[in-house]
Amino acid sequence: METNLQSSSHDEFTFAESWEDKKKRAQEIVKRLINTYPREKILIGEPYKTLIHCIISQRMRDEVTYRVWEELFKKYKDIKTIANTPVEEMQEFLRKNGVGLWKTKGEWIVKASRIILEKYGGKVPDSIEELMKLPGIGRKCANIVLAYGFGKQAIPVDTHVNRISKRLGLAPPKVPPEKVEEYLKQLIPKDLWVYVNHAMVDHGKMVCKPIAPKCDECILQDLCPYFKGQITREDIK
Ligand code: SF4
Repeated sequence: METNLQSSSHDEFTFAESWEDKKKRAQEIVKRLINTYPREKILIGEPYKTLIHCIISQRMRDEVTYRVWEELFKKYKDIKTIANTPVEEMQEFLRKNGVGLWKTKGEWIVKASRIILEKYGGKVPDSIEELMKLPGIGRKCANIVLAYGFGKQAIPVDTHVNRISKRLGLAPPKVPPEKVEEYLKQLIPKDLWVYVNHAMVDHGKMVCKPIAPKCDECILQDLCPYFKGQITREDIK
């Protein structure tokens, strides 16, 4: 199972390590991250609201996303109201609230709501394949809906998870996010998948920052090939 991940030169790690050692290291990393960034309530439990949040959040700051998302559900209440809203009205609502890509996102929100209502009887589908058929829902958002909406074991790979997994040598430095997801899923026990995204996001915001990681303050120093110079910034895509 492990070897099928090695399919091209992009899949090469910059340092030697057996798969078993990598697995042990991955599990220790996740254990420490979960202990450091506990989150009492991981499950939002509302797949539809999670899905709309994810559409709004694309290329947006968290605080703005959250504010707009709250406003949206204050004004429009539920999926039926949103599905019946003209696309232009939703676009105007997003524009007024300072949402980037408001035209596209307004269309996605209304159209995805109509499809969920008409095709799925108002229930958000709970498979990655069906979720990815909805407008505005790529692999990352689909996994976010599964993990945070349904509480299923999934690993959404956003910019933080991508960067940190590569700095920690859990995924090769040049692979695309969907491949990072595959590596993490093979390295980390399934019952911990749902914790990985939030723990790495918190770590990425507070310590392992994009430009200047605070390695001196990091609890993962002894497990980190980036800290040891085995992976450099230039290696990572
Ligand atoms: S040691 Fe540095 S690069 Fe490695 S995980 Fe910690 S902050 Fe990130």
